[in-house]
Amino acid sequence: MQIITTAREMQQACRRVKANRRLGFVPTMGALHEGHLSLVRRALAECDVVAASIFVNPTQFAPGEDYEIYPRCFEDDCTKLEATGTALLFAPSAAEMYPEGATTFVEVTGLGDRLDGASRPGHFRGVATVVAKLLNIVGSDSAYFGQKDAAQVAVLRAMIRDLNIPVELVACPIVRERDGLAMSSRNRNLSESDRGRALILHRALDAASRLVGDGEMNAEVLRSAMIEVFASDANVRVDYAAIVDPATLLPVDDTSRGALIAVAAWVGSTRLIDNVLIENLRADNLVREPFFMEEVHA
Ligand code: AMP
Repeated sequence: MQIITTAREMQQACRRVKANRRLGFVPTMGALHEGHLSLVRRALAECDVVAASIFVNPTQFAPGEDYEIYPRCFEDDCTKLEATGTALLFAPSAAEMYPEGATTFVEVTGLGDRLDGASRPGHFRGVATVVAKLLNIVGSDSAYFGQKDAAQVAVLRAMIRDLNIPVELVACPIVRERDGLAMSSRNRNLSESDRGRALILHRALDAASRLVGDGEMNAEVLRSAMIEVFASDANVRVDYAAIVDPATLLPVDDTSRGALIAVAAWVGSTRLIDNVLIENLRADNLVREPFFMEEVHA
């Protein structure tokens, strides 16, 4: 695996690949787990060559958020990426991505202020800007993102459409721990007791999914069920429990035409997110089995 730290060299290396091969790209912030590696595997299945990036992007963290304590383990990440078949790794410094005088930002208005964008002002401006830059640098045929960050997928789809960026966005399923907790780099920052508590996000989504499976479509009923689950642990603070249109992120009244059920909560000092996508399925197959690691390896 070739590790590249400058935008110019990365652009040149990717251009050489693209001359005669399909290039897939997996952007990450590192502290890699099976969720990230599932994106690499999907990219490998669909492309000839896979590039990844590791960059903890300062512009998507608001002051006072966890930028400083965000887990970083570069050597370990390189081993995992290489073992999974990544050919090119872009690992720039913050100064390389944001040199002095950089004044251009990408803002996805409306969408960027919903869900996580509402509770983390400026977050999606940082995400859209860095992803636009990375897509320009790598120029891949397709780019792989996790459905775990469902709002991010909606924001980036809109950005790619609106800016005519010639890349196919592929959204991949959420990979979970055995007990159902969605894998996240931030799980590393949970204390042992908070790790147990964190399951409440999955339990809340499960409560809503079960109701949907029983034929319940009223968003307010589903929301109440989730809030009730969250109320069972005073040490967890809900940020949002929302039933929205997966493309616009606007609330829907019922799930009859599909919906994204999304939650965010503070468990101790760590903010976690999770979601389940209700597509236009029939009630009898609505409750989906969680997507476990074994399925990724299969
Ligand atoms: P991050 O390093 O957190 O910025 O994530 C990099 C990419 O991995 C994003 O597209 C995430 O949505 C995706 N990702 C993170 N966790 C998971 C997971 N548990 N399952 C699938 N994809 C994930």
